[in-house]
Amino acid sequence: MTFETVLARARAEGRTLLNEVEAKQVLRDAGVPVTNTTLATTREEAQSQAEAAGYPVVLKVVSPDIAHKSDAGGVKLNLKSKDDVAAAYDAIMASCKQHVPGAKITGVAVQHMAPQGTEVIVGMTTDPQFGPVMMFGLGGIMVEVLKDVSFRLVPLTSRDAGQMIGEIKGKPILDGVRGQPASDIEALKNTIVKVAEFVEKHPEVQELDLNPVFAYPDGAIAVDARIVVAGA
Ligand code: ADP
Ligand code: MG
Repeated sequence: MTFETVLARARAEGRTLLNEVEAKQVLRDAGVPVTNTTLATTREEAQSQAEAAGYPVVLKVVSPDIAHKSDAGGVKLNLKSKDDVAAAYDAIMASCKQHVPGAKITGVAVQHMAPQGTEVIVGMTTDPQFGPVMMFGLGGIMVEVLKDVSFRLVPLTSRDAGQMIGEIKGKPILDGVRGQPASDIEALKNTIVKVAEFVEKHPEVQELDLNPVFAYPDGAIAVDARIVVAGA
């Protein structure tokens, strides 16, 4: 499905938020590394998609009314069997209905569980004056508490992306400290550049978050994605 198709469908449904499955699909087509993610609307679909994705898998709620999936009990990690998947499906439905009464639940996103990497965030926001701005930071508390992030206007080059990565205070973490492996900086640069190209090509995109991206010694992959588009 192309970006235009996904956009048209969202607008027809009165949504400005592309869900994780839609966001990952259009980003993958744009060359951004993301976990392969499918939408299941029943427990049985989730089970067969889990088999196809390969265990261990992750199930997550897909709902236009739930922005922070974990907070609503909408993320279940490390599922290793058909029974695990069925139980996780039921638990997600129950928990999300309880946390967000009346939430419309589209289904669950099914994906392979990626090995743990160093968590980073790649994002884009639209500045009213300057237009699209890319953001890079380390994941988790580093961005939430310390606001250790860097910014660049779109369009940007690979060299700009390298500077963004170099500017954060936590850069030594990416270089590898205390026996931790170094992260693949080229893969992170590529992720930033590909996202910037994507938003440049699609001015309808107003906000975008890859939170987190797992960085590895060899490669990087986004395990969560969110895109906000302008209304029709
Ligand atoms: P949200 O940000 O809406 O709470 P996420 O999709 O970011 O939900 O999932 C929460 C956390 O679960 C992530 O920060 C990540 O640590 C972990 N996670 C999510 N998807 C995967 C995956 N495919 N493989 C491994 N870990 C994952
Ligand atoms: Mg997230």
